[in-house]
Amino acid sequence: MTVTPPPGSAGSNRRPAANKTAQTLAEQVIGGDRRALARAITLVESTRVDHRTDAAELLDSLLPHTGEATRIGISGAPGVGKSVFIEAFGLHLTRQGHKVAVLAVDPSSVRSGGSILGDKTRMEELARDPNAYIRPSPSRGALGGVSRRTRDAMLVCEAAGFDVVIVETVGVGQSETEVDQMVDVFVLLAAPGGGDELQGIKRGVMELVDVLVVTKADGELKNAAIQSAADYRHALHLLRPKHADRSAAVAVSSALHHEGVDEVWQLIAEHEQALKASGELERLRADQAKAWLWSEIREGLLERLKTNDRVQQLLPTVEPAVAEGRLSPTSAAQQLLAETDTDG
Ligand code: GDP
Repeated sequence: MTVTPPPGSAGSNRRPAANKTAQTLAEQVIGGDRRALARAITLVESTRVDHRTDAAELLDSLLPHTGEATRIGISGAPGVGKSVFIEAFGLHLTRQGHKVAVLAVDPSSVRSGGSILGDKTRMEELARDPNAYIRPSPSRGALGGVSRRTRDAMLVCEAAGFDVVIVETVGVGQSETEVDQMVDVFVLLAAPGGGDELQGIKRGVMELVDVLVVTKADGELKNAAIQSAADYRHALHLLRPKHADRSAAVAVSSALHHEGVDEVWQLIAEHEQALKASGELERLRADQAKAWLWSEIREGLLERLKTNDRVQQLLPTVEPAVAEGRLSPTSAAQQLLAETDTDG
């Protein structure tokens, strides 16, 4: 859809007329075509300028078919058991008839020893499940970062009929906030450990938690997991609740033995239900969409500035002048920004 300006306002700056490629692709995605789904995600993730218009057309066509899924963010430190858990959780859901998409933000850039997603054994069984779709999302080098385009990929999956969309990210501080801004329910996985280790999770991250799952609750670690769950319950209780009348829930799970997985799903479903019933879900998603708009605008303006011819001409003199203290950053920024004013 192209936004039509109110009567009497200046030019509408319309996009070119409906694009056939994008529309055909949208129809194929909605029809459940797997190859089209992969192509569509590649398109929305593309950084090529000439792909942006197609991607925007595609997303607009898909939008009316989105919004029905449960959007779940799953985060946790490397090694906490995310892939084992998501596989058990995903298989549990597909057995119940759900269609599950997992957008895994590629953590290769933050792990030593190479890419874990490159390891073929990661979520192997879930990857083979016809009712599941696993897609690594490039993190663009940001530390554990969630790609801006992960949001778009999420919408594409919803339009393709996935009713549970999981965004997985490696917890390193910043990425949890980014994920929380695109999902309905934020799940944090934590390993069993002594009281001291609870401090390892930043307060800011704890404040985002809707459901906390202590992993690896089996064998020698079982008692420690149960104790940790009690400690986390206590710690979460002391925090200001994220949603007015709902405190965060805590569960223990041994994904290796497929234990506690259903309980986690129940907690997530209950949470989503409560948000829906109170109208909070609608507000939450509206706020997220507005924040998303502004983040797109910020990125777009920055891109436009950086690719502006005059700015590119000026930068080689302006930047050193700022670095050497001959020109103030404030004045330099004003000069560069002024160059875009004539763009129209
Ligand atoms: P990720 O880095 O968070 O994705 O962690 P992984 O899922 O790759 O798991 C890290 C390690 O923890 C692996 O050696 C797993 O076998 C182990 N692990 C994961 N889940 C469990 C569990 O439920 N029980 C036990 N005992 N080990 C687990």
